[in-house]
Amino acid sequence: MHDVIIIGAEPAGLQASLTLSRYRRPHLVISFPKISRTRNAPAVHDFLASDGITHADFYQKAKEQIAAYRMAYFVDDKVESTSRSGENFEVKLEDGTQFTGWKLIVAAGSIDLYFPAKDASVMV
Ligand SMILES: Cc1cc2nc3c(=O)[nH]c(=O)nc-3n(C[C@H](O)[C@H](O)[C@H](O)COP(=O)(O)OP(=O)(O)OC[C@H]3O[C@@H](n4cnc5c(N)ncnc54)[C@H](O)[C@@H]3O)c2cc1C
Repeated sequence: MHDVIIIGAEPAGLQASLTLSRYRRPHLVISFPKISRTRNAPAVHDFLASDGITHADFYQKAKEQIAAYRMAYFVDDKVESTSRSGENFEVKLEDGTQFTGWKLIVAAGSIDLYFPAKDASVMV
């Protein structure tokens, strides 16, 4: 049983992880690196104190700062489903592993949809 389970380990999920770490809340962070909006972008921009640094450096620094509190446990796998079980949340991974938490933070981001030029007026 985990105090908190976070789905997502990019800016939103890692910020939640750092905050929970500083509050001394043990928690689990699950991410599936193949689903990442920023993986193919060369660098971070327009982010205070980090403008221009590579994503690799950004994530390494973030994870080092989180690790220093020894409150976060990271798992790389795809979440297949989440469900409520009484007062708790159940998270099931693609490989069948199941985790239970008192709280669930979904920081799973968004997916970009690209339309061909003829549909450029479509807004999502
Ligand atoms: C090309 C590009 C360049 C960008 N450049 C900038 C920039 O310079 N500055 C800036 O501020 N913003 C930039 N952005 C926007 C920025 O990437 C997003 O605002 C940011 O990534 C959102 O962070 P997030 O944590 O909410 O979600 P995401 O970054 O989308 O992260 C989602 C997380 O959820 C996990 N996840 C999703 N589904 C599952 C699942 N089923 N199981 C397990 N894990 C899952 C993923 O593995 C990932 O860890 C850029 C975006 C793109 C596409």
